[in-house]
Amino acid sequence: MEKKTPQPLRGAIYTLAQSGTLKNGSIADSAERIVFGAGSEFGDNKVWRNRAKRKTISQKLNLGLIQAAEKKGEPERIRGYWNAYYCQNRVVSHDGRIYGKYCKSRTCTLCCSIRKAEIINRYLPVLQKWEAPFFVTLTAKAVRAEGLARRFFVFKKVFRRICEKHKKRNQRGNGQKLMGIKSLECNFNPSKQSYNPHFHVLVPNEWVADVLIKDWLKLWTRNFALPTAQHKRPVQDLERDLVEVIKYGSKVFTEPDTNKTAKGKSLPNIHTAALHNIVTAMEPYRIFERFGFNLPKEEKERTFKVVPEGQSKEWVFNLPDHDWKNPKTEERLTGYTPTARLLWLLEENMDTDLE
Ligand SMILES: [Zn+2]
Repeated sequence: MEKKTPQPLRGAIYTLAQSGTLKNGSIADSAERIVFGAGSEFGDNKVWRNRAKRKTISQKLNLGLIQAAEKKGEPERIRGYWNAYYCQNRVVSHDGRIYGKYCKSRTCTLCCSIRKAEIINRYLPVLQKWEAPFFVTLTAKAVRAEGLARRFFVFKKVFRRICEKHKKRNQRGNGQKLMGIKSLECNFNPSKQSYNPHFHVLVPNEWVADVLIKDWLKLWTRNFALPTAQHKRPVQDLERDLVEVIKYGSKVFTEPDTNKTAKGKSLPNIHTAALHNIVTAMEPYRIFERFGFNLPKEEKERTFKVVPEGQSKEWVFNLPDHDWKNPKTEERLTGYTPTARLLWLLEENMDTDLE
């Protein structure tokens, strides 16, 4: 892959040089750093080795996405991918915690994993009160890249129409209101060069699962959705199924069974041009959302604090090392080393053309 010119850091932690008067009356230059949020503990090095792994995947992936967006001349997208590339690029350690800024981009592997953890923490206690939850998959026929944006639009419209119908019925005292959580996901099939958007839905009972499938099929008609392609099953392991629902948008690595051609030739597992198409078409839509119920409101505090430079260390991620490094001492933060298989996947197994 081509070497990219690094872009200027935006929104990163910055250093404040401040002139202050010390107690003994001497004037000294002391520098301080502003750090954001509560930081995360550095006691467990394994957590941060995992982050170094995610960061490595995220940078490689976003470089591939940048290439795809450059081919199509889409500067907005390119900026967004660079933003994800630089997420948590500089971190500051202070008093056993590490501070960094998150980009919140959908193509940032670090932010997606944090988002997933937040969703699990918020929703699991609510979902645990459901009596007999069901897992539902709703899908329609696969489409080519050019039909993807339209397909997402219709997905949203059909689902909303089903919910509205039952809400009205319920208001008239006739039948239950539908509720659940759902996520929009899209897989790419490299051997057919087609896209398969689908909804993963968790609902409180089988009745809701049946209604969803029945109405979904009716609205799409047989030309677009077949009964055999829709699925429901009782939830056995709630946490596992919740994770399944919030995988967040699109799998980065395609499934082994879809990356073989008809002649059995293996195709790469990462398709950045296709992923770029999915990200672009999905942009106007929420990936994860609940329907028919509310969660208690949660206030989010935005905090920052100032820490003395002398009591903190700065670390900058360096892709060739797959780790954050102290620019002064060259010391590594986590000591993470990728497996040969991961390196092979990221170096040799990324395709930037198929879409
Ligand atoms: Zn991020």
